Amino acid sequence: MPSEARALDTLDYFERNLPAYLEDLRQLVEIESPSLEPQGLKRAALWLQTQFAGLGELRRFETEAGTVLRLYRRGSGPRVLLLAHYDTVHPAGSWSRLWREEGGRIYGPGIYDMKAGLLFILWALRYLVSSGREHPNLEVLLTPDEEIGSRSSRIFIEDAARGADYALVLEPPTGSGDLKVHRKGVGWYLLKVHGRAAHQGVEPEKGVNAIVEASQLIMQIIRAQDLEKGTTLGPNVIKGGTTGNVVADYAEVLVDMRAWTLEEAERVDRFMRGLKPRLSGARLELEGGLNRPPMEPTPESLALFELARGVARELGFDSKPGKVGGGSDGNFTANLGVPTLDGLGAMGAGAHQKSEHVIKEALAPRMALLAELLTRLTRDA
Ligand SMILES: [Zn+2]
Repeated sequence: MPSEARALDTLDYFERNLPAYLEDLRQLVEIESPSLEPQGLKRAALWLQTQFAGLGELRRFETEAGTVLRLYRRGSGPRVLLLAHYDTVHPAGSWSRLWREEGGRIYGPGIYDMKAGLLFILWALRYLVSSGREHPNLEVLLTPDEEIGSRSSRIFIEDAARGADYALVLEPPTGSGDLKVHRKGVGWYLLKVHGRAAHQGVEPEKGVNAIVEASQLIMQIIRAQDLEKGTTLGPNVIKGGTTGNVVADYAEVLVDMRAWTLEEAERVDRFMRGLKPRLSGARLELEGGLNRPPMEPTPESLALFELARGVARELGFDSKPGKVGGGSDGNFTANLGVPTLDGLGAMGAGAHQKSEHVIKEALAPRMALLAELLTRLTRDA
């Protein structure tokens, strides 16, 4: 059978099974699983475990952040890592209705980021098993803490990445539906400024004003951005001082850092570590650093993208190589040199907001893309 006819066959499977997929998705979305609520995470992990059981060798690991699920399924050719997270940013009870269909869209907490995409993996596996089609060696990793920086699951992601030839990430595509090959690196810094308190009315000259010091540091930090290169530094939280008539003896600034390249991230890091106070008697402390290194495109990741794009075209849609300022767990796999393709999840919009939704009619084609891409990764891209 020519590859295009086979792709359309695959699409047909997902169109026929869309109601069953949607039932699974509804169940998973209705189990609210915010990153910091262990009960919800536990219920979601148990549900996932039940669904994935029988599709491979399933192992669970308990971490501080919740359960990490790893599934191995033997195939032929390269090893492909499939990555998804099941935590969401929405506190339990914050949505009045957990599932709402309206005008071709389905709304729900975490549906777009990224429960719909996570279940693409489940259904792609079901398709591969039921159709008997050839597939690569697969490892699926489902994690509970992506939305809070993947602190506990990072070692599992990196461990799995070390054994993988390719990594596929089921985060949503860009707003226009493009798969993602380039993500900014993300970091944060907490700059703590220590000054000295004094009575503002009696002897202000004896104080060292930490807020004044912090202010001039912030202006230096702003100037270290390189907007042309897309390197940004956002001093987005500031705290300090005690009361109006006391010279502020302490202030702190939380700075968000993003850069397209490791070179830029490292430049900024050196700059931040080199900051010096200007007021005599002031002292600085710095916490934080680069959390997710940039996911930079490589010839190998672009070849992987082109393979996926070819499949997408057979299925009737197109994609450009997308880039976004947000990070994902794909940043970790790319940083280890694994060709990584992200944005293979569901089309939609409104991530992290009450308007979060997926586009119903785009679900089956995107699932078909993942499943079909897997069958073609039995050879090297
Ligand atoms: Zn996400």
